[in-house]
Amino acid sequence: MAEAAAARHYRRGGARRVTASRRLAPRAARPPAPLSWQRAGSGGGGRAEAARRGMEPAGAPPQGCGPAREAEEPPGSPALPPEELQGGQPARQSPGEEVLPAAAGRERGCRGAGPQGPPGRAARGRGRRAPGRRGGEEGVRAARRPRVTVDSSKAKTSLEALKISLRQLRWREFPFGRRLPCDIYWHGVSFHDNNIFSGQVNKFPGMTEMVRKITLSRAVRTMQDLFPLEYNFYPRSWILPEEFPLFVAEVRMMKDSDPSWKPTFIVKPDGGCQGDGIYLIKDPSDIRLTGSIQSRPAVVQEYICKPLLVDKLKFDIRLYVLLKSLEPLEIYIAKDGLSRFCTEPYQEPSLKNLHQVFMHLTNYSLNIHSGNFIHSDNVNTGSKRTFSSILCRLSSRGADVKKLWSDIISLVIKTIIALTPELKVYYQSDIPAGKPGPTCFQILGFDILLMKNLKPMLLEVNANPSMRIEHEQELSPGVFENVPSPVDEEVKVAVIRDTLRLVDPQKKKRKDTQCQTLEHVSEANEELLDAGAAERPESDAPRSPEPGLPSLCLKQVFPKYAKQFNYLRLVDRVAALFIRFLGVKGTTKLGPTGFRTFIRNCKLSNSNFSMASVDILYIDITRRWNSMGIDHKESGMCLQAFVEAFFCLAQKKYKSLPLHEQVASLIDFCEYQLAALDEKRLVCGWGIVERRSAVVPCQTDGLHLAPAAHAPLLNRTAAASKFADCKNHRY
Ligand code: ADP
Repeated sequence: MAEAAAARHYRRGGARRVTASRRLAPRAARPPAPLSWQRAGSGGGGRAEAARRGMEPAGAPPQGCGPAREAEEPPGSPALPPEELQGGQPARQSPGEEVLPAAAGRERGCRGAGPQGPPGRAARGRGRRAPGRRGGEEGVRAARRPRVTVDSSKAKTSLEALKISLRQLRWREFPFGRRLPCDIYWHGVSFHDNNIFSGQVNKFPGMTEMVRKITLSRAVRTMQDLFPLEYNFYPRSWILPEEFPLFVAEVRMMKDSDPSWKPTFIVKPDGGCQGDGIYLIKDPSDIRLTGSIQSRPAVVQEYICKPLLVDKLKFDIRLYVLLKSLEPLEIYIAKDGLSRFCTEPYQEPSLKNLHQVFMHLTNYSLNIHSGNFIHSDNVNTGSKRTFSSILCRLSSRGADVKKLWSDIISLVIKTIIALTPELKVYYQSDIPAGKPGPTCFQILGFDILLMKNLKPMLLEVNANPSMRIEHEQELSPGVFENVPSPVDEEVKVAVIRDTLRLVDPQKKKRKDTQCQTLEHVSEANEELLDAGAAERPESDAPRSPEPGLPSLCLKQVFPKYAKQFNYLRLVDRVAALFIRFLGVKGTTKLGPTGFRTFIRNCKLSNSNFSMASVDILYIDITRRWNSMGIDHKESGMCLQAFVEAFFCLAQKKYKSLPLHEQVASLIDFCEYQLAALDEKRLVCGWGIVERRSAVVPCQTDGLHLAPAAHAPLLNRTAAASKFADCKNHRY
């Protein structure tokens, strides 16, 4: 019924696009997984500090939806009742009644109400206003402006949503590519889908590798070592097979110290997706029963046993995050996302239910095969809903939704901070300094689970979140057809369209032109210009350069909240040192000579730490990391190995401090030494260019990776006093 209704709503070019195809039978249930742990309050404590610091929620549920607005600004924010939120709609009106169906928006040339309010509203408002002369001129100017060109030939499954977005923006699509360069290249899979030398591409090099389960776990763990409290939003994880003995030992230790502890673990194959190969266990020894762990590396993770339930069902949240730029770091979060529901009522894991995927795994791709899956074109019901509809429910129950959003923003920023150091290494390797190359942006899918106490926990990050706006409907056993999914369309089209608006190359040009025009405005007019749009009569106010479009569904969270998070960016600075010494353009690994040069230039060697010890440190750490079989394409020390060596040096040098202070002190020390060296070389008459070409392949277009190499020299006076004791240091 629901699908039929959705299909009725959805006509594209007069004909519904239906592709019937034969598919494999639904995936079989996971092999029964064995036996048990849950650490008391796993991650349930410490709410993110962001809320205390007063961050605004990103998530503004649809403005047209009464309860959703309340979700953004909850009245009084009473505590969530101890029992699960179950059954029933909020007492207030059903948000679905007010949210315009996507199709209705489309008819007005503005698809998808999205989280920015009913799209029709702006259009209606404009319709009532008599078009002034100025509007007419602007329209003519807009028509004369060359349209932004987008190569969609590699868009794959995001093509439909991209096409709708481009139509709304009136940009020019090149579905089969173009001989001339395009402004934007939209890739479905990775940065390398096309060879691009200019413009912008919607993928960062290395992102797919970075968000694989093992790499993400490693990156987050490095941050957990430095800042354990700040990074307690990621379940404790072990990497298999190499950390299997550690896993066994730690579990035994924790069980010994707390015999009442009955944990459950979830085993996830590296590189897997859509729940593929995932199973639950109760004891580390159960892993051996599966037999394939040597051949398929995996992450084993504490299972979050007490998730928040809605209608007695477990669900997770897919949030869309735009990484607009790596340097400077710019992050946006979509105000709405999707909630994907399990299809069997949840029970805490027990030996009896451990294998029930429809109860424990929220993956859409699995649950769609359950007889209980509900397709709905209402954003508030069914097995896939908008996140804002969940917020409405939580808010109506008195939950502190504002704090929840703060915690989510904090989780997203911290996760990206964990990913950026290695991403920068990939970036300089693929787009080396001085070579023509595109700039990058990327939409990421964050999968988040809410615990019963509303603490958000990160499950994983997707480099290629599904942007499909259709779902499969089983006509008869094994025969499926694609039908439109209004819930997906509402959220995803808004995310793609607004990502494009944010990276619009012409907007930048317009901004530059406006700045130039303003410079020529006479002093007499300056006061008027400074008065601000709000105080001007409507006819005088500058018009939106994107008439007819709703307000952006993406909210900037970084650099907006940079001050609160910059202290976490230590590994970024370590990565800048690493990149400075890489030596050869395009590499991602540091050779022994580069490592020695780093030690020598930063004056880290002395009588207690000879260059022979430096070589041993390099060989030991590099060999271990390379034996983990991550990347055999290049030999040498990868960033993670360098970070480990750096931490080791920091611990030796600043013994009594906590780890993050040791690391921060060593970074300061190294940056100071390098700045002093740069200055000395300048004084000695070495040209910057000559020096850089010798050792520093570090600066790419718009990406400044080695601050010490090209930033103004450190404030010598401050630095000198800070390091007055440096000379006395001994390893
Ligand atoms: P995949 O990439 O295969 O979807 P995920 O890491 O997203 O792998 O896990 C699949 C599903 O398993 C999640 O959507 C979630 O429902 C469940 N899950 C994953 N990790 C945990 C965990 N630590 N605790 C509870 N449930 C989890």
